[in-house]
Amino acid sequence: MYSQQKAKITNKNLDQYLLQAKKILNEYVLCDYCAGRLFAKKMGLSSHQLLGKKIKNLLHYKSTKNCYICKDILSNLKTIINRILEKSSDYEFSTFVIGAILRPSVTDRDDVIRSKFKLQGIDSVKTAITQQLAKKFAKKTKTKVDFLCPDLTFTFNFKNDSCELQARTLILSGRYIKKIRGMPQKQIPCTNCKGRGCLECNYHGISKFTSIEGKISKLLFEKFNGTQTKITWIGGEDKNSLVLGNGRPFFAKLLNPKKRKASLEKKFAEDEIEIHNLKIISKIPKEPIHFKSTIELSIFTEKKLNSKDLTSLKSLIKTPIVIYEKPNKRNQKSIYSVKFKKSSPKSFLLWITADGGLPIKRFVEGNDIQPNVAELIGHKCECKEFDFHKIDLINF
Ligand SMILES: [Zn+2]
Ligand SMILES: [Zn+2]
Repeated sequence: MYSQQKAKITNKNLDQYLLQAKKILNEYVLCDYCAGRLFAKKMGLSSHQLLGKKIKNLLHYKSTKNCYICKDILSNLKTIINRILEKSSDYEFSTFVIGAILRPSVTDRDDVIRSKFKLQGIDSVKTAITQQLAKKFAKKTKTKVDFLCPDLTFTFNFKNDSCELQARTLILSGRYIKKIRGMPQKQIPCTNCKGRGCLECNYHGISKFTSIEGKISKLLFEKFNGTQTKITWIGGEDKNSLVLGNGRPFFAKLLNPKKRKASLEKKFAEDEIEIHNLKIISKIPKEPIHFKSTIELSIFTEKKLNSKDLTSLKSLIKTPIVIYEKPNKRNQKSIYSVKFKKSSPKSFLLWITADGGLPIKRFVEGNDIQPNVAELIGHKCECKEFDFHKIDLINF
């Protein structure tokens, strides 16, 4: 590539620009990078440095002073590259992008030269700096620039000499199975930082791992070494519910992961929960996800059940279930299958397959839902437990 480039920088090519270059260099000291940058685009060349050097040689131009525009930033990128390398040393990545924040004086001086000598359509000094950094960093790490979806995003701030690094959020999907009662779905945030992340909670935002959220997060932290998780649940259950069968689907965002690849077994088993089919996906679907749940409900009645009381529950299949939400909002769900079995004089089991999001306890007790179990069987009811046996996604 370089030999090709050298071949293109001929004296004949350069002649037309040399006069202008001479005018500029008589007035301003410029480094090879900045000198070459002023003409590289017009000549269709990519290496500013080689072109700048060539121009200066032809003009027998020598100066030991700092570059007027960049103050020799471009000639001294090595230390910055080393800082970026150090910053990224713990991270697994194959693509990146580097941004720069310059002192306004640098861009101002760049603008002065560009307008004074009417140099249009050339790369800005900022573009030149970020391109040089990217080129050197890519070579050192054998990785590639990706502007759209980089694994790592660096911002080097020349104003305060700091380097920021952000790793692209990792998105995963999976399902969980919950085999014990008494475990909540969500984890209470760290009391010290209210979930923002602090030293005390290792920047996780949670300090305990005693919920479904906690267990999933812990697994992801171990596998990918990220800071925080944001979990989207496909439905929810009671603290005392079991989630069996194929499990409840969820999506997890893992912020700032250091690793991006990990062997993910088909099933991770902790004592109380199992995580199945955990896999990295490209994005969380934007449209609402519809799902159906098959639920087993354990219901107690205030009075003894007659043998015919339960048969009226069959009508649930044909009737839309209207949920009255406050204020003046109503929601509608359907029930697709109903089975029931008396388990004692004052209790029975009910199995239903219903649209996701049906508020189970309210549906049993008859709290702003029409029709409801209590009304249909003509007994005051209490839903003691409800367990999920199957959750099917409709549109995903
Ligand atoms: Zn310069
Ligand atoms: Zn905290």
